[in-house]
Amino acid sequence: MSIPATGTPSLAPTAQRVGERLSELARIGGETGGGVTRLAYTETERDAHRRFCAWANAAGASCNTDPAGNSVAVFQEGTPYFLIGSHLDTVVHGGRYDGAAGVVGALETAEAIGPVHLGVRVVAFAAEEGARFGRPTLGSSLAAGLLDGDALAKLRDARGTTLLSAASSVGLDPAQTPSWLGDDVACYFELHIEQGRQLEAGSARIGLVDAIAGSVRLQLDLRGRADHSGATPMRARADALAAASECVLAVEDTARRNRSTVATVGRMHINPNNVTTIPGQVTLTVDVRDVDPDLQRRAAGLVLEAATKIAVRRGVRLAPEVLSLQPPVVLSAWPRAILYDECRARGVAFRVLPSGAGHDAAVVARRAPAAMLFIPCVDGVSHAPNEQASPGDIALASDLLCRAIRRTDELLLAARR
Ligand SMILES: [Zn+2]
Repeated sequence: MSIPATGTPSLAPTAQRVGERLSELARIGGETGGGVTRLAYTETERDAHRRFCAWANAAGASCNTDPAGNSVAVFQEGTPYFLIGSHLDTVVHGGRYDGAAGVVGALETAEAIGPVHLGVRVVAFAAEEGARFGRPTLGSSLAAGLLDGDALAKLRDARGTTLLSAASSVGLDPAQTPSWLGDDVACYFELHIEQGRQLEAGSARIGLVDAIAGSVRLQLDLRGRADHSGATPMRARADALAAASECVLAVEDTARRNRSTVATVGRMHINPNNVTTIPGQVTLTVDVRDVDPDLQRRAAGLVLEAATKIAVRRGVRLAPEVLSLQPPVVLSAWPRAILYDECRARGVAFRVLPSGAGHDAAVVARRAPAAMLFIPCVDGVSHAPNEQASPGDIALASDLLCRAIRRTDELLLAARR
């Protein structure tokens, strides 16, 4: 006897509806000049989640928000279930596609999927961007039980507001989040803009992500001596900024030794930052990323080694600190193979590629099988007001997800018989 499938078939994903929904979301936190600012744990982010739930409700799905602020819409009851989604927060002056494209695309998929045997849920994760609290993927990490209370209580934004008080001011209590992201998830699918140029350069419309880079974030504090810029001879100086500058070049040089490694000094504080004073103290951050855990660890080690040598040679004191350590994640091969087949069957130009940026999928992958689809974004630009992608590509990716989920549903059902 075959098990009856549930759910009602709906309309296929359309570029027009995708475009309309993205425009509607872009008005929440929208700025003159086309940018969008929807920071984690603000009313603006909550407004986007309310909009998401209203769309889900209109399509007949129930929608609930957990204490971390993740909203989950149940399109088809049942466990295990397929989970499709992305995030709705942005960086400051971000674009309208990063995160939103994946949530809108997931709604299209869930509405169009038709009857399947497993459950179907769409998730809009909270606080994916590390823009406000310095730590990315907060919502998914909390749902996966991967963030402990002590670490959570320490998080503050640049104004000193703790994450817990920011969340409480919008009616959330992340410390109470149950870890619901686990065995019940048959497979997680996330659609996202590429944030790079590989698809565009190769004229591919779809990217199938095989691995997501991790990151090691370091803080290097260099202390020299703040002296008068006119009265101190060159040989008597302990210039913290000159030492820091050498460190920046060492970071670049280290990353260039491996094709897959990237490393960046993105922030630097100079003290006293005065025209006529030799800098006495410089604090800088280093972000090292790779899809290979050994190369990532080795690159971070080489940066520390180089900084130590520079500091000793220049007579400045170095205090290094590891701010965060996230290992790279290799995504499950089987859902990617199913997506690969669907691309080939439909004649869609695609390529398999790693992701240099972190995503909720990397967190979910630690609890359940996960697959990621990229669509191109113009010139690889993201986290900026001129971020641009095609609603047609989002609709195409949503349609591929529909087909892949239906196929996965059949395969998992056959495996259970
Ligand atoms: Zn994103």
